[in-house]
Amino acid sequence: MSSQPELAYVGLGSNLDHPVAQVRGALEALADLPGTRLVAASRLYRNPPMGPQDQPDYVNAVAALSTHLEAGELLAELQVIERARGRVRGAERWGPRRIDLDLLVYGELRIERSGLSVPHPGIAVRAFVLVPLAEIAPSLEIPTLGPIGRLLEGVDPSAVVAISDDA
Ligand code: AMP
Repeated sequence: MSSQPELAYVGLGSNLDHPVAQVRGALEALADLPGTRLVAASRLYRNPPMGPQDQPDYVNAVAALSTHLEAGELLAELQVIERARGRVRGAERWGPRRIDLDLLVYGELRIERSGLSVPHPGIAVRAFVLVPLAEIAPSLEIPTLGPIGRLLEGVDPSAVVAISDDA
């Protein structure tokens, strides 16, 4: 834990076992993390799977956290939530999953070490991350990658569709 809170962004995704409920439950778990406050959560978005196409659509969202956890501590907590919610590690890459949590951005830090890359390397090319992230942080400058508005211009957001609140 550090004394100064840091603003971190977490990506959430699910395409198994009632994905909307999975993402909502994971948002509640993020709000309950030690030394952490849920500052904002995007709407939920539905979009086609990345990688193998013979799997259900994904539901994705992004959360903003104000946290006293260090980046490595936060990643460890995200993995605890994934495990507690039944994600089986070691399964097919980009295969179906109950819940996937990615540490997208951690303050202005750039981290490149075994098991932790921040900003998350997938951000720049993933519309299902950029669209919800831009909803809650429209003027975010992502360390090393640049302004979110410019990144959005480089992807096709048309398949990423907001889900209504009663979904
Ligand atoms: P996945 O859950 O399939 O996206 O990948 C999880 C693996 O990516 C774990 O082994 C993590 O240690 C590693 N990883 C590296 N950087 C990150 C990050 N920023 N957020 C989440 N997982 C990360």
